[in-house]
Amino acid sequence: MKGSIVEVLFTHEQIQQRVAELGSQISADYQGKRVFLVCLLKGSIVFTADLMRHITPPVTMDVMRASSYGSSTTSAGSVKIQTDLDKDITGLDVLIIEDIVDTGRTLNRTLELLKVRHPNSLRICTMLDKPSRRVLDIDIAYTGFTIDDHFVVGYGLDYDEYYRNLPYIGILDPNG
Ligand code: 5GP
Repeated sequence: MKGSIVEVLFTHEQIQQRVAELGSQISADYQGKRVFLVCLLKGSIVFTADLMRHITPPVTMDVMRASSYGSSTTSAGSVKIQTDLDKDITGLDVLIIEDIVDTGRTLNRTLELLKVRHPNSLRICTMLDKPSRRVLDIDIAYTGFTIDDHFVVGYGLDYDEYYRNLPYIGILDPNG
């Protein structure tokens, strides 16, 4: 396994508390509606699993997979949708669940693809936001934590596919 954790940014307890807060906010906002969650693989699996248990209106969900090409710690320009949704989202209140928004390219492409399918509403919930790295402007409805420009792992986020199982979010030194 490459690299090492140099700092814990958010503990398991801090994450769980914030996820519960986000769940309450989403539940209040979607009162009387049904929520269709779109989990962006693979990084959002852990966040989606925790968050959906704090959402009280009826929830259905599906997964999507987009990948961007570049080096392993920075995302590059080109985004490809590798796995699309199974279900038609016309008329649904869709909430995209993302692990981290960096340049915004992945979400921009995902939004482009989903908007034309005419959902009733389309919003984004991200666990982490790195606004200093943004290249494309993205409207984010729900954010867990805003962070500085660090490469982070844990709570679903990987480095070379490892570290996703960490219960906390930490800064990785890829050469450490
Ligand atoms: P964007 O398209 O916004 O530049 O990149 C979003 C994707 O890049 C995220 O879903 C994630 O897979 C990856 N990414 C961006 N920043 C980080 C980071 O700090 N750590 C990890 N593990 N992945 C990141």
